[in-house]
Amino acid sequence: MPISRFRGVPAWQTCLVAGIAATIVYALLPDGGGWHATGYGLIGAGCVVAVVAAVRFYRPDQPGTWYTFVAGLAVWLASTVLNRATSHPASSLISNALDMAGYPLMCWALVGLIRGRARAHDRTALIDAGLVATSLGLLYWTFVLGTVVAEQGLPWPQKLDAVVIAAGDIALFVLCSLLVTTPGARTASYRLLLVALLLTAVSDVLLVASDPRPGQSGPADVLSLLANVVVAAAASHPSMRRLTVPLARPPAFVRPRLILLIVTILLAPAVGLYRGVTGHAGENWLAAGLCSILLFLLVGVRMAGLLRRVETQARRLAQLAQHDALTGLPNRRQWDERLAAAITDSAATGEPLFVALIDLDHFKKYNDTYGHQAGDELLAGAATAWRGQVRDGDLLARYGGEEFGVLLTGCTQAAAIGVLDRLLVVTPQRQTFSAGLARWDGREGPRALLQRADQLLYTSKRAGRARITADTEQRAEAVSERG
Ligand code: GH3
Ligand code: MG
Ligand code: MG
Repeated sequence: MPISRFRGVPAWQTCLVAGIAATIVYALLPDGGGWHATGYGLIGAGCVVAVVAAVRFYRPDQPGTWYTFVAGLAVWLASTVLNRATSHPASSLISNALDMAGYPLMCWALVGLIRGRARAHDRTALIDAGLVATSLGLLYWTFVLGTVVAEQGLPWPQKLDAVVIAAGDIALFVLCSLLVTTPGARTASYRLLLVALLLTAVSDVLLVASDPRPGQSGPADVLSLLANVVVAAAASHPSMRRLTVPLARPPAFVRPRLILLIVTILLAPAVGLYRGVTGHAGENWLAAGLCSILLFLLVGVRMAGLLRRVETQARRLAQLAQHDALTGLPNRRQWDERLAAAITDSAATGEPLFVALIDLDHFKKYNDTYGHQAGDELLAGAATAWRGQVRDGDLLARYGGEEFGVLLTGCTQAAAIGVLDRLLVVTPQRQTFSAGLARWDGREGPRALLQRADQLLYTSKRAGRARITADTEQRAEAVSERG
């Protein structure tokens, strides 16, 4: 029978139901006699085995990430079992060490998950992580750690333990928030894993507040067991395979990340207000002040990054809107704008202005003979060859289809014809074009000027193609011919 189903019920549901039932039984066990330690160990070990079996069955992309995760769970499991089984100082020392060792494993597994889902180095994610960590650190310090550390008579190993657990929890929370905000498939397995991480965090907060004595259990242990059960369910869900697969097209900005950041930034002033209202305004001022400064600095850096991105995208959009995709030349939109501007300039300066329209000869035949792809290559190749022959201040644009426009200012008609002659010579594949060259008459608008250039172009076509026709004081004449 495949592991993914048990008596027709999906494995992840079986895991969840059986695990929750076992946890309820565990919560009802009587105190003393090692019941809780044994029950915790058995349920936890069952979950670890379920995860390993699921990884072997589903063969996900990054099995190492899952194994690291399960190693973290196992280490925490051993720590809790040892702690609840005996109060011997040596075993309590080992239990504490195991507890601390679990954090780097869990964090490493989460880093693997995040990297698998994002597949790209994201600097903004680091800044966001810094924002979340700072705010959370302040919250933890103000409401939990500050009092624990200041407590008289509490032995220092216990204080250190509380600080390490808090630091580990903050790291885990930061990574979880990154996991939530990194684009990736939001599958059932992913959601279950988030629930498990949330349960772990709540359980740890409860632990710092009240550590159960050996032989006893508390709500923290029940929540921690439930977290293990939910991890087993997450691993047994078929969508666990897609947990470390990034989306083909990730969204540009993830909305939950924005919400998370806003909430995070507001935490520091909210804590200050709350402390003020409850009559503790003077306490923790140093921590609150430092965290606020750090938070606002990070927000500033983040905003600068966003601004840079917007500017880059705006430049890119402008480039796309003004250029032709095939040839890379300025497109019709840019041509129209620059022609209108050039007419205004010439009207002011009195400099001569020439407009040439170029149309490749027998291009349909070229397409029919060599294929559309070859036609495209000829258009791109001609654009590259021609670009090298046109001065920087002049404009060569793709007017449409196999038609191009050239805008020349501040030159004589002979020079303008010379430019077009050079274009004719360098046209690739021994192909030719016909062109019409019109000089702006000092009064007409862009449309009339283009119409005249177009008429001159058709004069070239009618005269046998591969030539340039220019107007001289309303007198059209063929001035250049190729071949
Ligand atoms: P003429 O010498 O009279 O200009 O003949 P022609 O065949 O060049 O003119 P016609 O207007 O009949 O055909 C133009 C052809 O240009 C038809 C069209 O398929 C082709 N064409 C237009 N744009 C593109 C393009 O982007 N790529 C390719 N490969 N062909 C294009
Ligand atoms: Mg044409
Ligand atoms: Mg043509």
